[in-house]
Amino acid sequence: MPRLVMKFGGTSVANLDRIRRVAKRVGVEVAKGYEVVVVVSAMSGKTNELVGWVNEAGGPLYDAREYDAVVSSGENVTAGLLAMVLQSNGIDARSWQGWQVPVVTTSAHSSARIEEIPNANFDAKFAEGMKVAVVAGFQGISPEGRITTLGRGGSDTTAVAFAAAFDAERCDIYTDVDGVYTTDPRVSSKARKMEKIAFEEMLELASLGAKVLQTRSVELAMRYKVRLRVLSSFEEQSDNAGTLVCDEEDIMESNVVAGVAFSRDEAKMTLVSVADRPGVSAAIFGPLAEAGVNVDMIVQNIAEDGRTDMTFSLPVDQVARAEKAVRDAMAREEINFHDLIVDTDVSKVSVVGIGMRSHTGVAARMFKALSAEGINIKVITTSEIKISVLIDRKYMELAVQALHDVFELEKA
Ligand code: ADP
Ligand code: ASP
Ligand code: MG
Repeated sequence: MPRLVMKFGGTSVANLDRIRRVAKRVGVEVAKGYEVVVVVSAMSGKTNELVGWVNEAGGPLYDAREYDAVVSSGENVTAGLLAMVLQSNGIDARSWQGWQVPVVTTSAHSSARIEEIPNANFDAKFAEGMKVAVVAGFQGISPEGRITTLGRGGSDTTAVAFAAAFDAERCDIYTDVDGVYTTDPRVSSKARKMEKIAFEEMLELASLGAKVLQTRSVELAMRYKVRLRVLSSFEEQSDNAGTLVCDEEDIMESNVVAGVAFSRDEAKMTLVSVADRPGVSAAIFGPLAEAGVNVDMIVQNIAEDGRTDMTFSLPVDQVARAEKAVRDAMAREEINFHDLIVDTDVSKVSVVGIGMRSHTGVAARMFKALSAEGINIKVITTSEIKISVLIDRKYMELAVQALHDVFELEKA
């Protein structure tokens, strides 16, 4: 029988009424003859609450293995509840926690990667008549036998991994918006829903902050050619509703810029007056990497008298760790700087589009639009299909709207 993966995010399973709605939607696909794997998130707000408890109980140096044991639990609840509701609708369903499948992951607690999803257990149950497997998203088991989680938003990745492992006809990601938009519809009322978006563009948008899909899920879908669709769990759905994430070749015409993404909670650090000598970057960024700091944008000033300033951006919640790493490196005399300046009030705004490969002038238009709004750019980075700028956080919404306007993204 053909298989389908359906994933429901936190707002879609926020209470029993919504879980009943989900069960109805799943029932429609079962009636069409699919064997369905449903991946669920925790009820909205639940994972944040669990993370809060971990921070309170464990302090800053909590045991990452126990963090995963706690924060993975929200998904267990929704999986069990949905299986029960499906059963009361007369559908043969059962819930599966990650370790039961088993979803085998790496040991990188709180950001584990899925390594393998063996088919045997599921195949046996489907053969016995199970119609729906309700899988707790976001979680797996490490080779050491400990519970792991896949990073925030990780249920998307669980869903795509199951679609790849079970060769599903489609992976439908049901959420609280009806597709992928040109930017977050909560920030710009002019945001336009796209019918299709290329994997490469979705990958960039996700990694630059558009949380509608976890980055890793897009990576997996691209690699394993999963038919990935994003759609609303709150509307009646046809087979071509929502946004299809697909190969570039399947999109006839596209704008030079496809979308605008943002990452609100960024920080900027500057090491003032470091020695400008070979190896200095390695001496700075090595310890930062070891401390698990995700450094993003980097700029080095022009040197004067053999010294220079090094500036980089990082997520705001990693500032304390980063500060410790560079100060420790200074204490070990591996680096030397005169001052450390930290700015925790910045955001990153990016424009993304595969059309940039063949069109010039995007950067100039972007910078002009920002300057017309009086927004100062602090750091710039570019790649083949994106341009990112770091700006003061208070201008973030304004910048997103200005860029959406200048690239006329409201028009298809
Ligand atoms: P779920 O709980 O279903 O996984 P998320 O909150 O993780 O839902 O992701 C959906 C949210 O992503 C939307 O409510 C929207 O605010 C946000 N979002 C950010 N960028 C975009 C975009 N380009 N298109 C659609 N939604 C976006
Ligand atoms: N519940 C997890 C989170 O909030 C995973 C997910 O919803 O995808 O991050
Ligand atoms: Mg999500």
